[in-house]
Amino acid sequence: MRYTIAGKTGEWEVVIGLEVHCQVITNSKLFSGASAVFGSEQNSSVSTIDAGYPGMLPVINKFAVEQTVRTGMAINATINKYSAFDRKNYFYADLPTGYQISQFFKPIVTDGYLDINRDNGEVKRIGIERIHIEQDAGKSVHDLIPAKSCIDLNRAGVTLMELVTRPELESPEDAGKFVRKLRSIVRYLGTCDGNMDEGSMRCDVNVSVNRPGEGFGTRVEVKNVNSIRFVIQAVEIEAKRQIAAYEAGEPVIQETRLFDDQKLETRAMRTKEFAIDYRYFPDPDLVHLVLDDEMLERVKATMPELPEAKKERFMSEYGLPAYDADILVSEKEIAFFFETAAKGHDAKKVSNWVIGDLFALLNTLGKDITESPISAENLGKLVGLIEDNTISGKIAKEVFALMAEDGKAPEVIVEEKGLKQVTDTGAIAAEVDKVIASNPDKVAEYKAGKDKLLGWFVGQVMAATKGKANPAMLNEMLKNKLS
Ligand code: ADP
Ligand code: MG
Repeated sequence: MRYTIAGKTGEWEVVIGLEVHCQVITNSKLFSGASAVFGSEQNSSVSTIDAGYPGMLPVINKFAVEQTVRTGMAINATINKYSAFDRKNYFYADLPTGYQISQFFKPIVTDGYLDINRDNGEVKRIGIERIHIEQDAGKSVHDLIPAKSCIDLNRAGVTLMELVTRPELESPEDAGKFVRKLRSIVRYLGTCDGNMDEGSMRCDVNVSVNRPGEGFGTRVEVKNVNSIRFVIQAVEIEAKRQIAAYEAGEPVIQETRLFDDQKLETRAMRTKEFAIDYRYFPDPDLVHLVLDDEMLERVKATMPELPEAKKERFMSEYGLPAYDADILVSEKEIAFFFETAAKGHDAKKVSNWVIGDLFALLNTLGKDITESPISAENLGKLVGLIEDNTISGKIAKEVFALMAEDGKAPEVIVEEKGLKQVTDTGAIAAEVDKVIASNPDKVAEYKAGKDKLLGWFVGQVMAATKGKANPAMLNEMLKNKLS
């Protein structure tokens, strides 16, 4: 079933295409040796090339190219052995050269795709038109000196990969899932940190609406959307705005709009009529970018196991359900934590602890898995203690809470707090006998057929042993003694 939005006059379909800018992880900039590391003092990592001094010549950063190739391979794309750089000309205070070097006519990566998993179980393939390499611009800072604007060129010349999808996303959720999947992949690859709130990954969201069965409507581009939640909201809000316009008999014009995440609306920024003509032309300072087989092979050899392959493996190797595997591979740090914890233990049990108790704990603490107060090894050990009957599942929850407080190993906590399960038959038998002896009426009722009372007896003995009696043993023994 195709996703639709109900308007006043009937159903509408929405179509979305994304342009995603990813800041590439490299030590130096795309065409200069200046540091590309985020967060240094203003204008402290700017070379004469980045500052647009006349006569300076750009020299390509090979690693930045490899990073883009790596990303292209991960999206099942064609890696073009021959690509070229073009100048995108415009004037802006934070762009000292007066142009940005990009790849317009011959991008390095073309024709890829990613599959997204819809909530209804459908797999939807999203075509990716291209990934090209380009430089970032500098940054204007308006709130540092009153009544003055400042320019910080640290970001000028930093490498960006721009990925452009085909208009094949069909709902706000599709768009959110695509960005989430892409972010997970670039993080696995180590080609972009994917931190949208810091701007190292940002999306332009193209949206149009049409009546079912009709061709695409006019596309509107919503610029610089910087979280997955905002991508979803921007699609919803912009689609509704367009539907309302069409239904009121007003046209939707092709334009660029801004998303206001406070007012939850989009606002016109510039229309196509006033669109800038960038006058793209091949950069005369740069030779064509030619990739050789040796380089492609070398990059291919460094490809890590990606989320999809990892999910398959988690299902076959550990026997996990798809639901668990999906969650565990969503971030490589979670997958790593799980695999470390599962070593030598029941994988499904470990998965339950990670997805259930650990995620709940991290959520309360506002921490991510790399900051978990409980190490993967210790979580594995905790499951081990249940497996070898040292503690019951119930006591394990207590131990878990204590581990979260001080990070101690579970066996140490069990020892210190005397939480070891009583598996000594004699000790359990003594408690069972006591309970039976002091409750003759309940025993009679049970014998008369009230089976449910078994649970009550278990509860009595558990209370007497402070929950430490081995539940399986206790059940067995009670049944015997009561029959
Ligand atoms: P342009 O070259 O004018 O920028 P593109 O064809 O490159 O346009 O498209 C830019 C983005 O807009 C792509 O992500 C594409 O998928 C998307 N797009 C194109 N047509 C539509 C449409 N009708 N509705 C939504 N998105 C669209
Ligand atoms: Mg475009």
